[in-house]
Amino acid sequence: MHTNANGVNWVNVDMIYPWQQPQWQAIQRLWQAQQLPHALLLQGAADIGKQTFAQHFARALLCHQVDSDYQACGVCKSCRLYQAGSHPDTQLIQRLDDKKEITIEQIRRLIAFLQLSQSISQRKVVVIHQAETMNINAANSLLKTLEEPAANTIILLVSAYPTKLLPTIRSRCQRLLFALPDRRESLTWLQAQTLHTDAAVLLNIAGGKPLLALRYNDESRLAQRTQLINDIGSVMTERKDWLQVAKQWEQHDRQEWLAWQLAWVNDLARLHYDPDATIAEDVSKQLYRLRDLSNPNKLYDLYDSLISRAKIATHTINPLVFMEDVLICWKRVMY
Ligand SMILES: [Zn+2]
Repeated sequence: MHTNANGVNWVNVDMIYPWQQPQWQAIQRLWQAQQLPHALLLQGAADIGKQTFAQHFARALLCHQVDSDYQACGVCKSCRLYQAGSHPDTQLIQRLDDKKEITIEQIRRLIAFLQLSQSISQRKVVVIHQAETMNINAANSLLKTLEEPAANTIILLVSAYPTKLLPTIRSRCQRLLFALPDRRESLTWLQAQTLHTDAAVLLNIAGGKPLLALRYNDESRLAQRTQLINDIGSVMTERKDWLQVAKQWEQHDRQEWLAWQLAWVNDLARLHYDPDATIAEDVSKQLYRLRDLSNPNKLYDLYDSLISRAKIATHTINPLVFMEDVLICWKRVMY
């Protein structure tokens, strides 16, 4: 991955993932029938490779000599410029590192770009990654563009949370759905990577999302999970106070922090009724211990509390207060 002048990350897009063949075939059929839409919404779970697919498709749309499967040639001027992140007929829009949202300034620049005619390819292609992070002004501004599509332009919106998009934007886009990959296919792919941990263990922790599973192959991330569940146990048994623990986690990604806990509450509920239930193997010892500490009837309240906090996890809130509040919820599930 490298960064171009706009501070945008460009991924290597030579290949799509093996589980994306059905979506590629859908694209081929549309292309062959000359029915490519002006706007396409690529939607499906996070961490299954939608962005890579979108950029792979964008490169093909710009290529001067696609093959009979509509795959980019990889060697023409267009393909080389694309891979260098400097193709003049394409834009990749995503939330910048220091911003929480895609801003109206970004969409205004995009609209100015769309008013130029294409320079080296047959069309212009725009990819909007995590499209749901457009703020309301940005979304309204884009909507006008979608309502009056420019000729020879294709806009690819990518989103794991399409219900957060304006309904009027969704209705202007044709959908391309990405299901969670088949477990066997994910395992085959994972086993071909260099792993420090068993592929099945990683895939379970990642809830079946292969790219997330690969990120957990980093041992320090597994160590963080162990640390968190130990901390939760310490808060429950009052060996640590919640403020002290919240301070330690203040800088951590809140959505991930909560996602781990939601999965653990799920595991705990199942363990209460089936001691042999399949649970997160990296922290199984700790989960058995938390099961013994927790009242099964109160776990559902904990789950609801965590879900309601997950909904506000991306809002601008004091992280310390947010985390303290979640840890207090854990304390309430004690017998
Ligand atoms: Zn090419």
